Amino acid sequence: MDRTHKIKLYPTKQQEQILAGWVGAARFVYNWGLERWTTEYKDYKEGKREKAPNWVPLSREWTQDRPEWAKYIPRSIVAYALKNLNNAFLRVIKKTGGYPKFKKRGHCRESFWLKNEAAHFIDGKRIKLPYKMRMRTAEELRLQGKIQKYSIVHEAGNWFVYASVSMDEPERVLTGSTCGVDVGMKTPAVCSDGTKLVLPEVKLRKLEKARRRQQKAVSRRKKASKRWQKALLRVQKIQVSINNIRCDAIHKFTTSVCKNHDTVVIEDLNLQGLHQVPIKNIRSGMVRSCMSEIRRQLEYKAYYIVIADKWYPSTQLCSNCGSRQKLTLKQRTYHCPHCGLELDRDLNAAINLSHYPGSPG
Ligand SMILES: [Zn+2]
Repeated sequence: MDRTHKIKLYPTKQQEQILAGWVGAARFVYNWGLERWTTEYKDYKEGKREKAPNWVPLSREWTQDRPEWAKYIPRSIVAYALKNLNNAFLRVIKKTGGYPKFKKRGHCRESFWLKNEAAHFIDGKRIKLPYKMRMRTAEELRLQGKIQKYSIVHEAGNWFVYASVSMDEPERVLTGSTCGVDVGMKTPAVCSDGTKLVLPEVKLRKLEKARRRQQKAVSRRKKASKRWQKALLRVQKIQVSINNIRCDAIHKFTTSVCKNHDTVVIEDLNLQGLHQVPIKNIRSGMVRSCMSEIRRQLEYKAYYIVIADKWYPSTQLCSNCGSRQKLTLKQRTYHCPHCGLELDRDLNAAINLSHYPGSPG
């Protein structure tokens, strides 16, 4: 089991420049690889190539092709940038992800990866990075175990290190209980035991409004100017607090669900088809990012996870008598004409998921 600890870094001005250079290099390699990959993949599909593209030959190609400055960046930055691209393409092939996009400058969150030998934590609150760069950190690593890799992240003007540590599974008392979690539109998630994921909507809406206002300031200003950068940083800071609030609520929900139940049944969501759902007031981008985050957290926190087939009619079945009827998207309550059940649509779906035939409970 891998756990990640996020720790704030305090680079000096000079160190910050180096880190920014490496972030840029990672982006450059990624985009370079994406361009290659796209042509190679096209050739492969048309039968002009025998093998599908892969990151290993691509990284060899990079060594021959790279610009002069790239000789001085840590090697694992390149390897991980291409490996991440590889994973993105594996998701494309498995149809679990969209086609990767070129990375742009000035994104709210940019990062690069380092292998475990490339860095280590030293005495107290410090970390040693490649080229003997010693940097202060906000706290010591709390997790015990072997460090797998590091990711250095630049997020709204601040720097962080994410250390992934492989750890032994903690002992857990099994409850023998199974639950279903319905990830929905109106309520972001409902567990079959009635637990709901509640997001502080009012607060979030306020922040989103502020973000839109600041975004306008960004677009008014001259691109890449000092004032533009300042405005962009403000947008990014707001975005980070939105993400933190949302993530925190999701963590509380998933922790409580996984503590009370061993097996969690979730739907196999076709996340790409979701943006076609014609519901106003809810921006599909936000719903989507919430859904994938809920799923990501449940997948690592649950003792056992069952992913129900996407054809399983969890919203259509009556959780009491098992009869089936179609519901329109507007119907928020399930009325059963056979047994008279009246239940919140999402809760009904969650209960159906907890009875999913494939689950052991
Ligand atoms: Zn019924």
